[in-house]
Amino acid sequence: MQTTQRPRIWFLTGSQGLYGLETLNQVAVQSQQLVAALNDSAELQAEVVWYPVVTDADAIRHTFLKANASDDCIGVIAWMHTFSPAKMWIGGLEALQLPLLHLHTQANVALPWAELDMDFMNLNQAAHGDREFGYIQTRLGIPRTTVAGHVSDPSVTARIGAWARAAAGLSALRSMKLARFGDNMRDVAVTEGDKVEAQRRFGVSVNTYAVNDLVTAVDAVPDGDVDSLVKEYDDTYRIAPELRAGGDRHDSLRYAARLEAGLRAFLEAGGFTAFTTNFEDLGGLRQLPGLAVQRLMADGYGFGGEGDWKTSVLLRTLKVIGAGRPGGTSFMEDYTYHLVPGEELILGAHMLEVCPTIAAGTPTVEIHPLGIGNREDPVRMVFDAAPGPAVVVGLADLGDRFRLVANEIDVVAPDQPLPRLPVARAVWKPRPDFRTSAESWLTAGAPHHTVLSAAVGSDELHDLATMLRTELLTIDASTEIRQFHKEIRWNQAYHRLALGL
Ligand code: MN
Repeated sequence: MQTTQRPRIWFLTGSQGLYGLETLNQVAVQSQQLVAALNDSAELQAEVVWYPVVTDADAIRHTFLKANASDDCIGVIAWMHTFSPAKMWIGGLEALQLPLLHLHTQANVALPWAELDMDFMNLNQAAHGDREFGYIQTRLGIPRTTVAGHVSDPSVTARIGAWARAAAGLSALRSMKLARFGDNMRDVAVTEGDKVEAQRRFGVSVNTYAVNDLVTAVDAVPDGDVDSLVKEYDDTYRIAPELRAGGDRHDSLRYAARLEAGLRAFLEAGGFTAFTTNFEDLGGLRQLPGLAVQRLMADGYGFGGEGDWKTSVLLRTLKVIGAGRPGGTSFMEDYTYHLVPGEELILGAHMLEVCPTIAAGTPTVEIHPLGIGNREDPVRMVFDAAPGPAVVVGLADLGDRFRLVANEIDVVAPDQPLPRLPVARAVWKPRPDFRTSAESWLTAGAPHHTVLSAAVGSDELHDLATMLRTELLTIDASTEIRQFHKEIRWNQAYHRLALGL
């Protein structure tokens, strides 16, 4: 998997010349202390880089243009420590092409009541300086995230950290390349979409490759590479006896390893971080890729089954957003329900391709027949997903725009073991309850393929949608079905108007 260097966020402090050098020096020192505090916070993965205090329109615009052009800058934080007349910010803000976070804070926590004089008041006036800045951002229609509070408050740094993660996801999305092996599953609607609009709005480039080019890469894998992968499987998972060395079906495990190595080589050579497969178009592949896809997802690749490039794009993006956090992120499909009144559950799975980062324990590697695909029995990992809070997210193309829909859920242990189910699965309780969740999801036209993540939360999704200027509907503990219907109708009008004529 490609790794990127630690992303940077530029920190810009606004002021104006009339305060005089002495005050501006204090502003600079205090904003540097604030940046140091942000960099000390465990909540923030990106490195925050301090830039000199800006006091005029030219400096503001030049700094934003430099940020746009910098390869490792993924976003900008702005803070008006003192009053910075906002007409100076118009040119810069309109030139900015990166995510913006407006941090509304101040240097001190408590007011020094007994010593409070006009010098203190002049220096510490973000309370109205940031209101001037909020006004101009709203007037210009600048998408941004606003965070208010002191940086010593962990909930403040956590919120900034969530925004920075969304910005890292956006950065990955802007340059993402996705390889499709085969087209869409025949006649399926929701997995289709406008790839030109996706590249314009998200940045991702989605292109097709002949599955037999993949076959060539798979056949070219040296036997030695297959040997080392099989050993790695032995060391990492519990392997079904028939698949082990000397077992009847060991050759199938070796072919699964060959598939993984060939697929990985193909993706690395092309700089792809996401891909799709289609069981209707397997060319000379001997198995539908199961274990290979699961292992590549675990390494951070995006994946969608049946040619579903939108879910693959979303999976890769959420992998980047959640990187390093506990809890995994996987391709998922709503499969079947437990509808006992009051105990309703959703069982999610796929034919084979569920990512082991969400597994509760050590996966077992097994081989079972698969009626679909018309190939040899595929090898796959089988496990239950780890219980805990998570989110499922879907991306649909409504024709005139993309829509993201998220549902906050609680993954639970299955009520009983599932000895006859030969695929990995997750069982969850959707919030606020099954009926509201399912009725809302269906009314929103959200897909059956999703990304399930225990590493990404609603704040990151909200910020990502803001950055992408893309609709996001969230179904959570506070969702009420009639209100949700209204939100869908209002969004319909808003997003059409926001597209312009
Ligand atoms: Mn599917």
